[in-house]
Amino acid sequence: MPYLTTEWGNPSSSYKFGSHLKAVIEKARGQVAELIGAYPSEIVFTSCATESNNTAINAALKTNPGKRHIVTSSVEHSSVLNHCMALEKEGYRVTYLPVDTEGLLSLTNLESVITEETVIVSLMWANNETGVLFPIQEIAEICDSRGVLCHCDAVQTAGKVEIDIKKTKIDYLSLTGHKFHAPKGIGALYVRRKTPFIPLIHGGHQERNMRGGTESVPLIVGIGKAAELARKHLPKYENNVRPLRDALEDGILNSIPNTELNGHKKKRLANTTNITFKGIESEALLILLDQDGICASSGSACLADSDEPSHVIRAMKSDSEASRQMIRFSLSELNTPQETTSVINAIRKSSIVLRS
Ligand code: PLP
Repeated sequence: MPYLTTEWGNPSSSYKFGSHLKAVIEKARGQVAELIGAYPSEIVFTSCATESNNTAINAALKTNPGKRHIVTSSVEHSSVLNHCMALEKEGYRVTYLPVDTEGLLSLTNLESVITEETVIVSLMWANNETGVLFPIQEIAEICDSRGVLCHCDAVQTAGKVEIDIKKTKIDYLSLTGHKFHAPKGIGALYVRRKTPFIPLIHGGHQERNMRGGTESVPLIVGIGKAAELARKHLPKYENNVRPLRDALEDGILNSIPNTELNGHKKKRLANTTNITFKGIESEALLILLDQDGICASSGSACLADSDEPSHVIRAMKSDSEASRQMIRFSLSELNTPQETTSVINAIRKSSIVLRS
C-alpha cells in the first residue's frame, strides 16, 4: 500500500524521496531472482510476459543479424506465435515444431531442424492450455551443443515447478506476475550473464539500459513479494494442488459420458486439466458455468474474445471438432475440495442440458 499512496516518488530521480525507491526495486529483483535461482543482475522487469517473449526473440535476432531462422512449436502462446508470424513477413524463416496427440515434442525432430542459419529456439516449459511439460533441460542442452540461443516461456511453470536456472543452459526465460498471484501488468525476463542482448524498448537508463521507461514501483514490489511467497509455498505446492486437480478431473471423466483428457496424463503441471466434452460447444458450456460462478476457459485468456478454436488442441488432434469442445480448468492452492465437488456437479447438470 505505501507504494500506491505515500511513496509515489520516481525511483530514477536524484532527490531522495524518489531515489530511495531504487533499493525497493532491487529487493524485488532479488526476490524474483531467487524464485528461479538466478543472479539479481540477470532479471529485467517488463510490463508482462508478452513483452518478455518479444524482447528475448528480438534480442537474439538483432544481435545475430547474419542468421534468419527461428525454431518454435505450434502450441506456443500467441505472444510467441504471432511475433514469429510477423517476423516471417520480414523475411525470417520459422519452423513450428509439431506435437503428438498427447502434446509432447520430439527432441529428435528438434535436433533435425536446427541448421547453421538458426538463431534461437523458443519453446515453452509448460503449456498454458494443457499443462503439458516440455523437457526444457534437454532442449537447452541441444541448443547449447549446436551454438543456438535458447529462450523459454516459463510463465506457467514459475511457482509451480522448481526452477534452478543455473543448472540449465537456458539463455532467456520469461515470467509474468499474475500467474503466481502478483498483480497483472508486471513481468520479468531473465537474461543469462554474457548472453547477447539489445532492448526492445529504447528509452532512458532504467533497468540498467535494458528496458526504458519509468519503473512501476507498486507492481515491482508486488511481483517481488509474490515471488518470495511462491518460493516459500513451492515445496508443498504439488501436494496441495494435485489432489484437488485429480479429484476434479476424475470426477468429470468418471461421471460425465463422452469426455476425454487432453494432454499427457503424467508429464504436466499439477494444477491444469483440459477436457474434451464431445458434442458440446465450449462456449455454450462456459456460459452455463459462468452463471454458476465458475471461472474456466476454452483456450488462452488472451484469445478468449476471438472465437478461434484452440490452436493447441488442433495441433494435437486431427479431429477438428475437439478444438471447439474443450474446457481448461486451472486450480490453485486456494481452491477447496468443496469447490471441486460443486464444479463437477455444475458441469454434470450443464452437460445434460446441452446434450438434451
Ligand atoms: N506465455 C504463456 C504461456 C501464457 O500463459 C501467457 C499468459 O497467460 C503469456 C505468455 C502472456 O503473458 P502476459 O499476459 O503477462 O503478457
